[in-house]
Amino acid sequence: MPRIAIIGAGYAGLAAAVELTRAGLDVTVFESSRVMGGRARVVEKDGYRLDNGQHILLGAYTETLKLLRFLKVNPKRLLALPFVLHVPGRLTLRAANLPAPFHLALGLLQSHELSWADRFAALRLIRFLKKCNWRLGEDYPVSELLDRTRQTPILRELMWHQLCVAALNTPPEEASAQVFANVLRDSVGASASASEMLIPRVDLTELLPVQAGVYLGMNGTVIHTANPIKRVSQVDGRFFLEGDPIEGSHFSHVIVATAPYHVSSLLGDFAELTYLRGQIDALPHEPITSVYLAYDEDVRLPEPMVQLSGSIVQWLFDKGQSTGEKGLLAGVISASGPHTELSREEIGLQAHQAVEALFPHKSLKAPRWSQVITEKRATFACRPGVIRPLGITPVKNLLLAGDYVDSPYPATIEAAVRSGLAAARQVLRTATPPAS
Ligand SMILES: Cc1cc2nc3c(=O)[nH]c(=O)nc-3n(C[C@H](O)[C@H](O)[C@H](O)COP(=O)(O)OP(=O)(O)OC[C@H]3O[C@@H](n4cnc5c(N)ncnc54)[C@H](O)[C@@H]3O)c2cc1C
Repeated sequence: MPRIAIIGAGYAGLAAAVELTRAGLDVTVFESSRVMGGRARVVEKDGYRLDNGQHILLGAYTETLKLLRFLKVNPKRLLALPFVLHVPGRLTLRAANLPAPFHLALGLLQSHELSWADRFAALRLIRFLKKCNWRLGEDYPVSELLDRTRQTPILRELMWHQLCVAALNTPPEEASAQVFANVLRDSVGASASASEMLIPRVDLTELLPVQAGVYLGMNGTVIHTANPIKRVSQVDGRFFLEGDPIEGSHFSHVIVATAPYHVSSLLGDFAELTYLRGQIDALPHEPITSVYLAYDEDVRLPEPMVQLSGSIVQWLFDKGQSTGEKGLLAGVISASGPHTELSREEIGLQAHQAVEALFPHKSLKAPRWSQVITEKRATFACRPGVIRPLGITPVKNLLLAGDYVDSPYPATIEAAVRSGLAAARQVLRTATPPAS
């Protein structure tokens, strides 16, 4: 009987666990933390249940949305907004409810802050990508793509730069134009629904991991939380996990679904994985900082999500409009930048000043509570030429899953879910006897 161990209960590991459990296999999940969700999880601070970082999903996250549907997660747990860029006082670009490309074309037309030169430039970039079938041949930085398609200053600053940093967590000067093109192809380039922005109305552990846990538990899959695995070894084709609470237990397959920087120590016993470990350890990373500010309940943003200009904070989310926590705002600062050198207090202060600037006619009191959370290695830096490992390793039946595994997408929830599903399907190919 195949027995599958999954190390890590982030979105990748849980997607794999659900897929394999669904197929009736014997699966055990090991998670080092008490809380499931990994880099998309709830954290408790001073009585607030916050996410380790404000996330958004896209309508293009087809596999994640399919998994949520399978787990019977109420679709209302995601606040669906049409693609909108709202930079107070500078730009409002809202996609129309029309098939692509008219949804964006009409949005550009209706955005009165944009000139005709801006509108043509935006369409020129989309046309350029479509013409080459969204494949650039040789990869290069996003900033070069913006140069080649003669993007205007306002589009560069308020649209492409912000979208690139938000989607790839890498500044345009360093980000892969090919991966950016893939994201545009499957979101704004696909349809109005694919470009929808989906803001969770519950915390990220509640959104999927808890529901996955219920499904797995009801179907006999054990999840050992607060149970770090130290090392994987193999004897006579069987895998043993150091840290498995059940002594002597062994597995036919292992899916390592941790963040990339945890893989090397887990797989240190396998000489044949020296090259792979080196490849994973060489992945560069970028941080994401989240700033939570709790104001009086009457503080409300003009939209559930606004984009800022001239501040270190790039996006501001009004939790009152998504989770119902009135007055609580979440600021997001993706990738490294000038803020990297600032103290948490200074980041909190600058975030408050950015909020103050949104309410010029109101004397806004300082937040009664604030919290700055920095994930130093939030995602790998999505640069041209970065080599991402395959999910299949040179050791038979030992697989990798996670947002960093080779895929057309940047490190996102969708990439994590897809990699988990791909690993599970690979297990199914080898674990299920061929039909006679
Ligand atoms: C602040 C922040 C904001 C983000 N914003 C967005 C966003 O808006 N949209 C989006 O799509 N993506 C976003 N992302 C990226 C997204 O969160 C990740 O791509 C995704 O969660 C990665 O999932 P994963 O399962 O691959 O890895 P992880 O979430 O890292 O899961 C790995 C799991 O393995 C566990 N583990 C590690 N070592 C061991 C061990 N030895 N034994 C047992 N368990 C172990 C960890 O505890 C963890 O639970 C953001 C990330 C961050 C940090």
